[in-house]
Amino acid sequence: MEFRQVPLHKKKHIALVAHDNKKADLLEWAEYNRDTLAQHHLYATGTTGGILEEALNLPITKVQSGPLGGDQQIGAKIAGGEIDFLVFFWDPLEPLPHDPDVKALLRIAQVWNILIASNRVVADFIISSPLMQETYLRKVPVPRSGLEQP
Ligand code: PGA
Repeated sequence: MEFRQVPLHKKKHIALVAHDNKKADLLEWAEYNRDTLAQHHLYATGTTGGILEEALNLPITKVQSGPLGGDQQIGAKIAGGEIDFLVFFWDPLEPLPHDPDVKALLRIAQVWNILIASNRVVADFIISSPLMQETYLRKVPVPRSGLEQP
C-alpha cells in the first residue's frame, strides 16, 4: 500500500457521535468547548446532532441516526476525505444493534488516519493540543487502481 500526505487544515471537519449512555458526556464536553468547536465545520449522527445543535446553537451537518445508517454515512465521508476528526463516544458496556456499523466506522477512521477521540480524556487532549491551530500533514492510503483521490 502506498501513502501520500494530505494537509489537516486549521479549520477542521469534526464528526460528533455518541451512543445513548454517552450523550450526556459528549454534550458536556461540547458545551465546555463550544467556542473552539465554533471555529470548525461540524457533522453528527442524527440524534447526537439534534441535541448538540440545540444546546450549542451552532450549524451541524446531520446525517441519519446511527442505527439507521448514520455511522455508515459518517464513514463514507471519512473515506471521501471530508472528515478529519472523529469524536465518537462509544459505549463498551451496552450491546447495540448496529455494532457492525460501529466497528466499520472505527475501522475506516483508522484506515484514513484521522484524529479519533473515543472518550473524553482523549477528546480533551486533542482539542487542547497546539497542533489544533496548525496545518498538519497526515498520511492517507493511495488506491491501487486509478480510483479518484479524495
Ligand atoms: P445517534 O447515533 O446520534 O443518532 O444516536 C449514534 C450511534 O448510535 O451511532
